[in-house]
Parts: sequence; C-alpha cells; structure tokens
Amino acid sequence: HAKSDGRGVWRYFKPEMNQRMQMRRELELDLRRAMTDGQFEVFYQPIMDVESRRVKTFEALLRWRHPERGLLAPDLFIPLCEEVGLIVPLGDWVLRRACADAARWPEDIGLAVNFSPVQIQSRHLVGQIASTLRDTGLNPRRLEVEITENVLIKDKETALATLYAIKALGARIAMDDFGTGYSSLSYLQIFPFDKVKIDRSFTCELGQSRKSNAIIRAVAGLCDGLDMAVVAEGVETEGQFEALRREGCNQAQGYLFSCAVAADALPALLDALNGAEWAQAAE
Ligand code: C2E
Ligand code: MG
Ligand code: MG
Ligand code: MG
Repeated sequence: HAKSDGRGVWRYFKPEMNQRMQMRRELELDLRRAMTDGQFEVFYQPIMDVESRRVKTFEALLRWRHPERGLLAPDLFIPLCEEVGLIVPLGDWVLRRACADAARWPEDIGLAVNFSPVQIQSRHLVGQIASTLRDTGLNPRRLEVEITENVLIKDKETALATLYAIKALGARIAMDDFGTGYSSLSYLQIFPFDKVKIDRSFTCELGQSRKSNAIIRAVAGLCDGLDMAVVAEGVETEGQFEALRREGCNQAQGYLFSCAVAADALPALLDALNGAEWAQAAE
C-alpha cells in the first residue's frame, strides 16, 4: 500500500521493513528476558606486557548465551541495547560481575571494562563505579575504563567531567579502537587518557607493510611523549608481535595469546601464560 505522510509525498510500506521491525522487537524482548534470566556472561581476554610477555590485564568482554542461538558476540546486541536504554543496567551488571571476578585474581593483574557512550553520558555512572569498587573490594588502581572516540563527540563537557571523576576514584582511562574515529589527535590533548589501544585494522599488516609499521611507530612515539601506554589490538602472529615490539608498543592483545575465555578458565590460562602464579595467589 501507499501512504501519504501529510506533505503530499507518498511513501511505500515494504513488507521487508515490517519484517525488520518485527525482528527488532523480538530481539528487544529477548534482551529484556535475558537480563532477568541471567543469560549474560562476562568473558576475559588477556592483555600482555610486551617486555616480559606476561599477562598484565584481563579485558572483560560481554557474551550472551542465547537459549536458541548459542553464544552471541556483543556487536550483535549492544547497539540495540544502547538504543533502547538497556545498556545502562546491563553495563552496571558487567562492571559488578567483572570487579567481583577480578577481586579474586592475583593483585598485580588489572581489569579493563568497556563502556558505551550512553553510559558515559549517564549521570549515575561515577557513583555506580564508586559503589561497585567499594562493594567488591577491588583496588581502584586495578580498574581500567575503556571508551571509544564516539564518547567524546556528543557532549564533550559531560564526558570530560565524567572522565576526571573516574580518575579521581583512582581508576585509569584507555582510548579503545584508536585510529578508526574522528579527530583523535585533539582528543589525546584534551582528554586524560592513560592508555591508547591501536585498532586491530592497523595491526593486521604489521611486519608486512611499511605503512602499517610507520603508523604504529608514530602512534607509539606520540603516546610515549604524552606519557600514555600504547597497546596493539588483534595480534595474531609472532611476526606481528615482533614488529609491534620493535616499533615501541608496550602491550599486546590478540589471538596469538588467547581469545576471550569464561571466568572459570582463567586460572588455567594464567598458569599457561605466566607460570604458576594463580596457585600462589590463592594461598
Ligand atoms: P573491543 O573492546 O575493541 O574488544 C576487542 C574485540 O576484538 C573483542 O571482540 C575481541 O574478542 C576481538 N579480538 C581480540 N583479539 C583478536 C584477534 O587477534 N583477532 C580478531 N580478529 N579479533 C580479536 P568482542 O568480544 O566480539 O567485542 C566486540 C566489541 O564489543 C568490543 O570491542 C567492545 O567495543 C564491545 N564490548 C564488549 N563487551 C562490552 C561491554 O561489556 N560493554 C560495552 N559497552 N561494550 C562491550
Ligand atoms: Mg575494549
Ligand atoms: Mg578495541
Ligand atoms: Mg572494537
């Protein structure tokens, strides 16, 4: 059917459009149910210190164990959570779960948690982080807050105030997916980052392309001058690891070391990567 939008323009209702809206509504209902039914899980991926080649931090990565569709990655459902406002309670849950897990890890292992722009704009975030740290007993210095550049586009003032308040709690701030967004350089100047994570798209050709090597070297040099640590994401080969080490990255994350694993697989993973650390810490 054709339908007038009131200004004499005719819009056509396509059956596929209805279908897509229907699917979205179903996903939204599924998501709400997933919250109450406890279908979300936090997985962890190690971030390695390049020099010592030991685990420095575990990054919390959200998973949805869907009853019919299996284990789902966040890119499939986080955008909708952001749209319908579910990301705030879901983000609170991730933080609490992750801090509680991390409080049982060896003291020298940090925890990185991703926050969406919607969360950073939410006025209750700083209080939420403070009370979660208090309740779980996690040392704030072990917490690293990862945000992407999009956070900073919308309302710079709010974002800046929030980031400073988070730092005042003792936590650190990392810029995620560096190089894929907008005016990265001015953001590095304005916002109080402790760490920059170079996006995986720059890592994949490391060691093979002069351009990738030059970009990583330049970013590492820049971060060094700004007293920020620099991490390469998506490291899959020894060749890439060698190259990023040569170009001056401090930390590395990727399938070369491990993918994200469930919390109960961490003791074995830490043993494999670091030696028998965990057993010592548990005593
Ligand atoms: P991210 O924070 O940049 O996380 C890195 C992503 O790259 C993860 O995907 C990780 O599994 C993947 N990855 C790690 N190493 C490699 C590698 O060597 N090769 C390849 N091809 N991929 C690698 P994942 O877990 O699917 O997460 C995707 C994105 O979803 C994250 O990107 C993050 O932006 C977002 N996300 C994850 N958990 C949360 C959360 O709790 N809250 C929010 N707001 N966002 C989250
Ligand atoms: Mg991240
Ligand atoms: Mg990233
Ligand atoms: Mg990403």
